[in-house]
Amino acid sequence: MKLIEYPINELATISHPCSCGKVHKGMIDHIAIGKGALRKLPEFLKEQKLLDGSPLTKEDKLLIVSDVNTWKVAGETVFHMLEEEGYPVEHYIYPYEKMHTEEGHIKELNDHFPEGIKMMIAVGSGTMNDITRYISFHRHMPYYIIGTAPSMDGYASDVSPVIIDNLKRSLPGQCASGIIGDTDILATAPEKMIAAGVGDIMAKFLDINDWKLSHIINGEEYCEEVADLMLLSAQKTVQNIEGLKKRESKALQDLMEALVLSGIAMSYVNTSRPGSAAEHSMAHVMEMTSLLNGEYGELHGTCVGMATCIITRLYEKFLERPIDYEAAAKKAEAFDYDAWVKEIRRVFTSAADPIIKLYEKEKRNDPDNVKDRLKRIKEHESEILSVIRGTMDQAKLAEPCIRGLNGWTTAVPFGFTREHMKDITIYSKEQRDRYAAIQFLYEVGELDELLEEVLDEDYGK
Ligand SMILES: [Zn+2]
Ligand SMILES: [Zn+2]
Repeated sequence: MKLIEYPINELATISHPCSCGKVHKGMIDHIAIGKGALRKLPEFLKEQKLLDGSPLTKEDKLLIVSDVNTWKVAGETVFHMLEEEGYPVEHYIYPYEKMHTEEGHIKELNDHFPEGIKMMIAVGSGTMNDITRYISFHRHMPYYIIGTAPSMDGYASDVSPVIIDNLKRSLPGQCASGIIGDTDILATAPEKMIAAGVGDIMAKFLDINDWKLSHIINGEEYCEEVADLMLLSAQKTVQNIEGLKKRESKALQDLMEALVLSGIAMSYVNTSRPGSAAEHSMAHVMEMTSLLNGEYGELHGTCVGMATCIITRLYEKFLERPIDYEAAAKKAEAFDYDAWVKEIRRVFTSAADPIIKLYEKEKRNDPDNVKDRLKRIKEHESEILSVIRGTMDQAKLAEPCIRGLNGWTTAVPFGFTREHMKDITIYSKEQRDRYAAIQFLYEVGELDELLEEVLDEDYGK
């Protein structure tokens, strides 16, 4: 059987000898997504084990973590449900409407952490999940997440993004032991959050595209079954936009499953490759810019969705013209490291050092390295172009899908100036050592020109 043939609750715990030669393992004990899924919570807890392998009992105290909104939407219900089941339950409600996973908020909960807690239950989406994952990991206890919005694909992630000194860092964490997405709760999420979730999923078309490209160009390990799993869930999402507008249970279920699957797929291959490429790097730089400016910024999926639309348009324009290898090689030779360092310092200011250090690892823009890859691109040109063409047939649907939910598909509503957006796009490729769309378009010598065309369309000439 192939991975795409399994239902999500089996994928969560599967040990799958894959056609790629590896064994993919799911790490999540319990998943319930659908109408009334919250009712599964007591059943899951009855089977839950603590990290030392002993069973969770009704003597063991649970801690519910929420913010003011998610407490109203579901936290309170969960609290009473667990009390009725006979568990000792405590709760911590962050007194904020909007918050990120900042070091200070982690300290805040640690300072208020009740005695004798054996397990944590987060109620929320990105931030509540990230905070609870981080704290439960450090306190050696399992945690569950009760999702309140299908807004991002980090539900099944095992890393903890934490903001320290205005910089987002990926710190170690653990997978949730249980994930619940009750569509009656998800249906109450604001449209903006649903559009963000759709944006995060639309990115998968590009993620698989860039993974394939890197497989062809750099020989990076690639798993077709995992890739197909991602593509299928993105295709389902495209079909579900009308249903999402009406908050239909099945459409919300499919979207939530896609978001959870993305994390599971990443854990199968021990890399975020199946769910994160150039659009995620762009989103990361947007988030970083907001933080450095002391602003809250937009939702992760809102940034990812917009970046997906921009990169799709870059690729579409790229397909319209032949690759000029000679001109590309000349551009590669003109790379000036000192000028590059100056640019990185200008764009990333206080966050520039780690990026400059990262460059030393691969020296990715060094002329010889770029020319090496250009050679392989030339050798495999028809294969590469057919991969990108196939992707564009689907990725071009990202824009109407996101727009269908009143989401943002250009940088204009974000308030980024044209110059700013240019920096974000071009330099996003430098903050991470992952070969993806922007690096590829840079290496074939087309990035600057294609980007000017896209920005002309969005900002006017
Ligand atoms: Zn595989
Ligand atoms: Zn994402």
